[in-house]
Amino acid sequence: MIPLPEYIDLDFEHADFGILQRGKNEPIAISWDTGHRCHVAISATTPEVYYKVDLLCDGSGFCTCPSFKDVQSKKHRPCKHIIALDLQIAKKGKEEK
Ligand SMILES: [Zn+2]
Repeated sequence: MIPLPEYIDLDFEHADFGILQRGKNEPIAISWDTGHRCHVAISATTPEVYYKVDLLCDGSGFCTCPSFKDVQSKKHRPCKHIIALDLQIAKKGKEEK
């Protein structure tokens, strides 16, 4: 089993929340993977493509997508999967109140 990557402190102040709505970005389905105790982001159009993604309430998280691994994590920026997860958590929080 591949170990999960380390949690990285993320800068949400400069996060691009519009990234999910723009261009050809496909909707991202996110579900909880109990086996790995993290979330998985699944591409809606290509179900065989999925990444492990997680975000803690202290603002640290990770994603196993190439964009995050190679680019965004070095700038401490969340990738679109983490942003999608963040929005999903926020929505869930509102529904529970
Ligand atoms: Zn990602």
